[in-house]
Formats: sequence, C-alpha cells, structure tokens
Amino acid sequence: MECLFCEIVKGNIPSTKVYEDETVLAFKDINPMAPVHILVIPKEHIADSAADITPENSAAIAHIFEIIAKIAKEQGLDNGFRVIANSGEDGAQTIQHIHFHILGGKKLPEKMA
Ligand code: AMP
Ligand code: ZN
Repeated sequence: MECLFCEIVKGNIPSTKVYEDETVLAFKDINPMAPVHILVIPKEHIADSAADITPENSAAIAHIFEIIAKIAKEQGLDNGFRVIANSGEDGAQTIQHIHFHILGGKKLPEKMA
C-alpha cells in the first residue's frame, strides 16, 4: 500500500476534512490529543518529513503555514495553539508524509518533551 496520507488525499481512506485547496488538505486527527487536533498536509507527497524541506518545496510549506493561521482563526483558537512536526525516529514520527499538527482548545502542557 502507498502512504496512508496519500490514500486519504485520494479519498481511499475516509477523513473528516476541515480545509482543502489545490495543494493542501487539513483533517481531524483520528486520535485527538487536545479538543482541537488537526493535521495539515501537502496533497502531493513532496517530503517525508521536515528534514526534507528544501528550496524546491519550501514555498509549499510556507503556504501550509498561511493555511494553519487561517484554520486556527476558523477554529476559534484566539488564545493560542501549538504547531508540531514530528520528524524521524527520535521525533516519534509514525507517518512518513510531511504533516503539521495543530493542537489547541485548552492550555497545553508547558513541557514539550
Ligand atoms: P505523527 O506521529 O506525527 O507521524 O502523526 C501521525 C498522526 O496521524 C497521529 O497523530 C495519528 O493519530 C494520526 N492518524 C493516523 N491515522 C489516521 C487517520 N486514518 N486519520 C486521521 N489521522 C490519523
Ligand atoms: Zn504520502
């Protein structure tokens, strides 16, 4: 099987979409760690992780961050939120299709690791 998030983009695996445009998809995390827990991904598998961000794909990543700000506003996260990109084994990444977690809706723990 191809990557799980590529299958979600194709619609072969269902997801609860919160945002979609030509290049970006955002959907609810299946195992939420906060009242709001959304994953934001490039539709195209342009990178496995944040370790693969290059001059060639960084514009797409910048666009994702514009969308993150938009989603945070739409979700009412006016008091703040956290963006996380788990990367590689030490980063405890489980799905090797670059993605950004938006976590919010409560006061998150100050300790991140
Ligand atoms: P990471 O550990 O950073 O690679 O994050 C992968 C995230 O994908 C985890 O938070 C999972 O809960 C989430 N996840 C796994 N499968 C699905 C799915 N089918 N739909 C939505 N989120 C998923
Ligand atoms: Zn993929």
